[in-house]
Amino acid sequence: MAAPLIKLRGLSRDFPMGDHVVHALRDVDLDIDQGEITAIMGSSGSGKSTLLHLVGCLDRPTAGTYELDGEQVSELSPRQLALIRRHKIGFVFQSFHLVARLTTAQNVELPMLFAGIAPAERQRRVSDALEAVALADRAGHRPDQLSGGQRQRAAIARSIVGDPELVLADEPTGNLDTETGEEILHVLTSLHQRGRTVILVTHDTHVAACADRIIHMQDGRVVRDERHGKRHEEEFVLEG
Ligand code: ADP
Ligand code: MG
Repeated sequence: MAAPLIKLRGLSRDFPMGDHVVHALRDVDLDIDQGEITAIMGSSGSGKSTLLHLVGCLDRPTAGTYELDGEQVSELSPRQLALIRRHKIGFVFQSFHLVARLTTAQNVELPMLFAGIAPAERQRRVSDALEAVALADRAGHRPDQLSGGQRQRAAIARSIVGDPELVLADEPTGNLDTETGEEILHVLTSLHQRGRTVILVTHDTHVAACADRIIHMQDGRVVRDERHGKRHEEEFVLEG
């Protein structure tokens, strides 16, 4: 069997806060395969964002190891982590993080400006990414001229413009109404159907139900790991 895309062993993250320490993540072991779509659930403060930031190479663990795509990343420098993010990871946040004075197309293009990609290639990738989130007709609009769902789709387009293998979304539907959340969910599942590995943090059981797998967190630990759908049936057949 192929090695997992993500392999976490004994991963911990402490935050020193004055005279005490917050144990945001405690000794997490987790494997996620290439092509899986996984939801992470748990109450506020249970460590979901901390875990996602570590997986997204936005932060480094206090203890433990993280192997991404066969490469040990837990001890890389911030500069090396930035390179990994640029090439392998797309991150979607709850609050979009779009630049207000830029158009949708310019926002989507932004990550590539730092990657030194030629203009013609940038244009091609921007159109592809906007196409993938059904936002081609809003390329020239600024964020304040978009609806909430369109802003989040623009943010997703920006996260996939570098063609990352892994897409991480931290409560991507948290600021949206149910119907708009549905639309974002559809975009994320379509990315998964096109072969990407997707991990999303959510409070919403309905949102989580779109995933192959649901990881439940409590107090910095993984307390339950549920799989359903096809994968579960396969396991069931093997057992039976
Ligand atoms: P969740 O996303 O599940 O709501 P977080 O991962 O954001 O939880 O936080 C887990 C715990 O770690 C919380 O107690 C939070 O207050 C703490 N925490 C997270 N980030 C920091 C930080 N940068 N500094 C100090 N404490 C933090
Ligand atoms: Mg969070």
